[in-house]
Amino acid sequence: MADVVKINEKTYRIEDGEVRFFLFCGSEKAALIDTGMNVPDARKIVEGLTDLPLILINTHADMDHISGNKKFDEIYISPAEEENYRESGGQGKIIPIHEGDEIDLGDRILRVIDIPGHTPGSIALLDEKNRILVSGDSVQDGNIFMFGKYRNIDLYIKSLNHLKEFDGLYDDIYPMHGTFPVKADLIDKLLVGANEIKAGKAEGKEENIFGTKAYFYKFPYAGFLCDLP
Ligand SMILES: [Zn+2]
Repeated sequence: MADVVKINEKTYRIEDGEVRFFLFCGSEKAALIDTGMNVPDARKIVEGLTDLPLILINTHADMDHISGNKKFDEIYISPAEEENYRESGGQGKIIPIHEGDEIDLGDRILRVIDIPGHTPGSIALLDEKNRILVSGDSVQDGNIFMFGKYRNIDLYIKSLNHLKEFDGLYDDIYPMHGTFPVKADLIDKLLVGANEIKAGKAEGKEENIFGTKAYFYKFPYAGFLCDLP
């Protein structure tokens, strides 16, 4: 059962226990950002919150972010994510979005920032007017999945550095897992951890994750689940 939390008149977060997703309302349109892991009726839930025409944007296509996608004919998503989306069973027509695109909800613009690494087509969304950065799974203080197909730690590090170019344009980061909200200093911490892992300097241990062997690096600020070294 999903839990709806009102952040303000135009912004909601929906918690499904495993993952969270968001409803951002403008003056003309509303954007559902992801549809959770166990929420096939995500569309119905948010239609109870707004009468505005609704669009769906996916931060990326991992299974825990697309459970309610079936109720949408079109999805705004990075074209680099299409393979992952279709493999996860994702349906509908893809409206490709790219770095620098501005999705205008009416008096509220969401700017697309490409942050590949966690997945090839991961994006962040900057709502500069409301000083919010939606970070998907890439910036969060839970466990960041970096093992298996599609993950790339070099690109992930590059993307965190790219995100730092937007420092000062937001106050809060809205992640899909872990603590809500988090602050920009988490990006610096994740960069330290990811760089230590890449350099082979971090200590980890083997874990079995859904039948796959992964290597778990636990830092005070977040965890990373990576391929075996
Ligand atoms: Zn996730």
